[in-house]
Amino acid sequence: MSEADCLFCRIVAKEIPADVVHETERTLAFRDIDPQAPTHVLVIPKDHYRDAAALAAADHGLADEVIKAAHAVAEQEGIAGSGYRLVFNTGPQAGQTVFHVHGHVLGGRGLTWPPG
Ligand code: AMP
Ligand code: ZN
Repeated sequence: MSEADCLFCRIVAKEIPADVVHETERTLAFRDIDPQAPTHVLVIPKDHYRDAAALAAADHGLADEVIKAAHAVAEQEGIAGSGYRLVFNTGPQAGQTVFHVHGHVLGGRGLTWPPG
C-alpha cells in the first residue's frame, strides 16, 4: 500500500535517499533532514497511513511495531536510559506536514515542556 506522491512512500521505495538507521519487515527509521535535537529520527510503517489514528484503526499490531522500533532506535542511539520524546504530530495545527504517519524520536538533550 503506497501513494505515488507521498514523500515517505518514496523513501520506502528507495526513490528518494534517506539515512536509514533501523529497519524491520514492516517499519523503517531514518534521520530527520532538519534535526531538532542531537537525535532526531523518524519511524514509519512501510505501508501508507495518513496519521497515527488511521494506523491504529486499520492494522492491529503495526502501531505496536512502530513504537517498538522507536524504542529500538532510542536504545541504538544511547538515549533510552536518559529519556527521549516520541511525537506523532496529527493534523495541521499540530504541525503535521507529511501525511504518512511518522513518530519523531527526539533526544540527546533536555527537552522542555510544554512544547511550543
Ligand atoms: P511533521 O511536521 O510532523 O509532519 O514532520 C515531518 C518531518 O519530516 C519534518 O521534521 C521534516 O524535517 C522531515 N522531513 C521532510 N523531508 C524529509 C526527508 N526527505 N528526509 C527526512 N526527513 C524529512
Ligand atoms: Zn506514504
